[in-house]
Amino acid sequence: MPKRTWEINIKGQSHIVRLDHGYSSGKCEIWLDDQLIVKEKKLYDYGSQHRFSIEGESCELGIITNGITFDYYLLVGKTPISAKEDSHRRLLTSAIQNAYSESLFWQKLTILTGLDDNWKSGLNGFGRHRLIGYIRDYLVIITGGKAQQAATRIISILIRHAPIDNNDPARAKLKADLLAKQVTTQKQYLKKHTGVETSFSVITLPYSPQKDDAEAIFKKINTIVHIVSKYASPLPRNVCEGPTCKQRVGQDLHLTLINNYLVYLCGDCIKEIPLEAKRREEEHLKASPDLLKGVSAGIITAILCGFPWALVAFYLDRVTAFFSVLIFLAVMKAMTIAGAKLTKLSLLLDGLITMAGIVWGVYLTIILNTIKHTRAFTLETFQLAWQTMGADRGLLVFSLLIGFIVTVPFMWDIWSNHKLRLTRAYNPNVEIVEPTNSL
Ligand SMILES: [Zn+2]
Repeated sequence: MPKRTWEINIKGQSHIVRLDHGYSSGKCEIWLDDQLIVKEKKLYDYGSQHRFSIEGESCELGIITNGITFDYYLLVGKTPISAKEDSHRRLLTSAIQNAYSESLFWQKLTILTGLDDNWKSGLNGFGRHRLIGYIRDYLVIITGGKAQQAATRIISILIRHAPIDNNDPARAKLKADLLAKQVTTQKQYLKKHTGVETSFSVITLPYSPQKDDAEAIFKKINTIVHIVSKYASPLPRNVCEGPTCKQRVGQDLHLTLINNYLVYLCGDCIKEIPLEAKRREEEHLKASPDLLKGVSAGIITAILCGFPWALVAFYLDRVTAFFSVLIFLAVMKAMTIAGAKLTKLSLLLDGLITMAGIVWGVYLTIILNTIKHTRAFTLETFQLAWQTMGADRGLLVFSLLIGFIVTVPFMWDIWSNHKLRLTRAYNPNVEIVEPTNSL
């Protein structure tokens, strides 16, 4: 099991930090002067970062991995310390260098913004960083992350403000100002993460360690807050935002993070959160699945999808089968619009309707081919096509098989995402934060 030992001297006192890390067992133990301070075991080890303080100095110990090998580092304040076991290495690996510069970037951004460094425990990598506090009286939360489709790092700035009456002029203003001041780029994946809602605005910046330093990002954040201040006023700090709050303006107010969204809540409303979530869960469980309406809407959609399917298959032939997942998604959309609740059964029915839609699409394709060969379109064409489909099942079997293979992963993905959303909604993560800055 790999071990790393760091001998450090802080304020004239020597200390020893030791890490025992088992990359196959997922075990991680951190010892400070023979005292165990971190003990973790993970099934999948994607690396982790740990914070602790020695003699009042903040330290960060990191385990980073590229999926195959692991690297370890220790930062004491801003100073990187080499492990005894790595002292033979003349140069730091690039993974460690990146980790250092990332940590130093966030340290610097924390100082520049004056926000509280409130990193998310349990997360690692760039997404663990979170700064919370006030900039010019606006409540701001800055988080690191990765754009979903692109492997680009992003920094997201969420600004809570007092509710605004009309979002559209504010959206137009934000968009025009962001572009005029060239704060952000017009990248598609960033547009999705930028917008104005009634009581918050969110702007996402791309972040490249080579191009953007902390000063540049801080300048942009300042500009963004300034732009927001033109269309929204700061969130009042003495009003509870609980939807059914009885005391509304009160003393016992806490800045509360519910699933990473910041709100002011009084003690009573904080106690209400799990109860309210439970109530909504019970309502959800009781709600009628409305399968009949959903299935009818799904069948009509699958029938309609058969026509474009046949047209495409007429020209592209078998390749069309790979698009069958589009039928699946269209049927799902129709079922949702019709009000059907997403359940295992509704997903299964969606799958079955999709298979039936494929059979229908194949039948229509054969009709088109029959017309092409016989150069006639009569009642007999339908019968002839039916017989052809029965006699030569190759196309049908191929289409159903491919349809099944491409649809099942989507079903799985939709179901697991759905379950994750429900878990978050009905077991919300609640944290109370008290920013210390008062800019
Ligand atoms: Zn309240």
